[in-house]
Amino acid sequence: MSNKNIDRNALEALLTNRFFFVPSFSIYGGVAGLYDYGPIGSALQQNLINLWRQHFVVEEDMLEMDGAIITPAEVLKTSGHVEKFTDFMCKDEVTLEVFRADHLVEAVFEARLESHELAKQLSQKLEVTEDKKKKSGALKPALLDESTVAEINEILAKIDNYNMKELGDIIVKYDIRNPATGNKVTPPVEFNLMFDSSIGPTGNLKGYLRPETAQSQFVNFSRLLEFNNQKMPFASAMVGKSFRNEISPRSGLLRVREFMMAEIEHYVDPNSKDHPKFQEVAHIKLNLLPANVQQSGSTQITAMSIGEAVSQKIIDNETLGYFLGRIFLFLEKIGIDNDRLRFRQHMSNEMAHYACDCWDAEIQSSYGWIECIGCADRSAFDLTVHSKRTKEKLVVRENLETPIVYDALVCNLNKKKFGPKFRQNAKPIQDKLESLSQEELAKAKEEISASGKFNLELNGAVHELTTDLMTVDMQTFKENVREYTPNVIEPSFGLGRILYSLIEHSYYTRMDSENRSVFKFNPLMAPFKVLVLPLLKNASFKPVLTQIARSLRSMGVPARVDDAASASIGRRYSRNDELGIPFAITVDFQTIEDGAITLRERDSTNQIRSDINTILDLVVKLVNGTEVWENVIKTHPVIEASAE
Ligand code: AMP
Repeated sequence: MSNKNIDRNALEALLTNRFFFVPSFSIYGGVAGLYDYGPIGSALQQNLINLWRQHFVVEEDMLEMDGAIITPAEVLKTSGHVEKFTDFMCKDEVTLEVFRADHLVEAVFEARLESHELAKQLSQKLEVTEDKKKKSGALKPALLDESTVAEINEILAKIDNYNMKELGDIIVKYDIRNPATGNKVTPPVEFNLMFDSSIGPTGNLKGYLRPETAQSQFVNFSRLLEFNNQKMPFASAMVGKSFRNEISPRSGLLRVREFMMAEIEHYVDPNSKDHPKFQEVAHIKLNLLPANVQQSGSTQITAMSIGEAVSQKIIDNETLGYFLGRIFLFLEKIGIDNDRLRFRQHMSNEMAHYACDCWDAEIQSSYGWIECIGCADRSAFDLTVHSKRTKEKLVVRENLETPIVYDALVCNLNKKKFGPKFRQNAKPIQDKLESLSQEELAKAKEEISASGKFNLELNGAVHELTTDLMTVDMQTFKENVREYTPNVIEPSFGLGRILYSLIEHSYYTRMDSENRSVFKFNPLMAPFKVLVLPLLKNASFKPVLTQIARSLRSMGVPARVDDAASASIGRRYSRNDELGIPFAITVDFQTIEDGAITLRERDSTNQIRSDINTILDLVVKLVNGTEVWENVIKTHPVIEASAE
């Protein structure tokens, strides 16, 4: 289990000082929501990407792509982003400071609940926690009546479900103000999160920085299907930067304006969303927070197996369940604490109008429960709208063993008369007639048999179609090919959010004389796998240090050498524990004589000793996960540590 009560200020200072990541352009004053990753942050991010590719792209045989970041406006108009990719914003009426409306409501309510708790403790003369004492200045103890507490808790449980008007009403009803100034805030308005741009020198072609990688995958659907030899189901995948002009980024890496995404688009037959490997994940128990629980004002989690949740229709279908299971296994593999992971279903208003089910993998950190992965069934929305706009068919054609025979109404035109009669209107009228549904055709047939003509309305004009121009007849069809638009199930990962959550879950303080911080990154995620260091600074150690580091690196094991003269061995161990390096190899005077070196494990600080080849062999196995430390110390006795 990870440490829930971290000191975030200390953690943030450490992350900056050891250059995990820092605000971008900080020597110019920095820009909110933009971060640069240093050597440790970059290595962590790259390891996360490599593990993600192995777990999803390789193991699930997905088709990986890399698409353009700059996207023409037309594409994003079609996908609905130009109109709907918005958050609600309000401003301090005096200072004009901006807030994301739902976040402001949340922050104010949470502060009120905390101050209420504090007031209760004080009135009951209960011991006030140290943490509360520290905060009590800002908290200003104030008792609320219990019905208000219940109302606030209910609103917080449903906070993602409110529309703009509802949020505005809450702000007025509960007198939500800017906590820093006490000023009132303006009613919420919509703010589009995309960064716009223009493409080329004329400025006539409008573009945006992509807000997600998905659209590049959808527009290439036909090529992907062709590459997959027309076989369904299959998935495409992409890792790359996305951009969102967040209203007020205040939570470190969790809410940024430029971030690395990893997205999967899994294409399925809408008639069959079962998954061939479902049984492999059916037994996995997830912490579920279904929509109906939130809508009742609760955040109570239920632990339930994926198999049970799908059979009870809590999770809509097997494919969605399968991906939730794979997401769980991925997060477990990288070291996320399962007790601080939950899967929250979207409530009805929160879900995109086209989606039929959506679950967020939320990870708890000092910032609360944060969505790190969205997993939505987007139905056939994206492929349908792009196909309609471009007239490119984005469909699957399936050869049928037994042809489908069916009767349907069709509109038969007498072309000889139709063209001359309607002239320039002939084509649009014909297009409109061809787009009529079976229901509309049945009505047209009735109209013709009753009055001998059908009146078609098109762009405000009525066109009279008499029986010499058109008839509606029942016809028998035989289809050897079934054509359909696949549905898309989309797991969408924000890698920065996962990384930051992992950093918090891995962070602890070693309870010894130094009280130094440690990151318990597992060997798969650790930025450097091995620390190589001499017991103390001495020229005679140099050749063997160089040889060990070179051997490790040539075997693909990132190694860091720390031979700084000034620091004791203990200090050097602990300052590298701060980088989360899981193993350390130490060279000492004995090594020069007998070639033996020690190997130290970061969390237990246990050490074993053996010859260089044996230790290097072990390290490679420990790093690639084919050996674990608990086993190693069964066969190699733990030795007395050299003074730390
Ligand atoms: P969405 O398309 O909004 O469901 O976002 C997909 C994923 O991208 C989320 O689950 C987050 O992990 C990540 N994400 C979205 N917005 C941000 C942001 N501003 N900063 C960092 N990660 C984000």
